Amino acid sequence: MVPVIALVGRPNVGKSTLFNRLTKSRDAIVADVSGLTRDRQYGEAVWQGKPYIVVDTGGISGDEEGLDLMMAGQSLQAIEEADAVLFLVDARAGRTAGDEQIAAHLRKRNKHTYLIANKIDGADPDAILGEFATLGLGQPLGIAAAHGRNINPMLDAVLNDE
Ligand code: GDP
Ligand code: MG
Repeated sequence: MVPVIALVGRPNVGKSTLFNRLTKSRDAIVADVSGLTRDRQYGEAVWQGKPYIVVDTGGISGDEEGLDLMMAGQSLQAIEEADAVLFLVDARAGRTAGDEQIAAHLRKRNKHTYLIANKIDGADPDAILGEFATLGLGQPLGIAAAHGRNINPMLDAVLNDE
């Protein structure tokens, strides 16, 4: 089975940037994977010779007040379909109520969940660690999706854990 990795998090944390980096120009939509539907964006990617599928849950019109809707909708579905969840938070914005809401849901699910603090390029790494560790999902891993920073250690942790 090809592992499915879902990118979840508030709007604007960098999910699509990470999706594009992982899938590069290979924007093929995977339509034929059993159990997956097409209302989320699926991409194929390869890590150390092994294929995996990455799911971008970006389709929610960027409405910050729509968090309930998001959690009830496609992000929730993506979490259920996934073998592993990358929960992205914004290291520059800091922890928000939305992050706490999503974290509370993820803590209840029996999924491999990785807390990823994106935009580490614009943040103090020590402050980030302390701030996001309190979400109850382990220590955050700081990345910069836009710059490719720490992407390989992240994939190593996620895909060599499956
Ligand atoms: P999404 O709504 O979660 O899909 O977020 P996007 O991928 O659309 O990114 C939202 C904004 O954050 C864009 O302006 C990106 O360029 C920016 N962004 C994404 N990753 C990084 C990063 O690693 N560092 C910085 N500084 N900005 C980033
Ligand atoms: Mg997006």
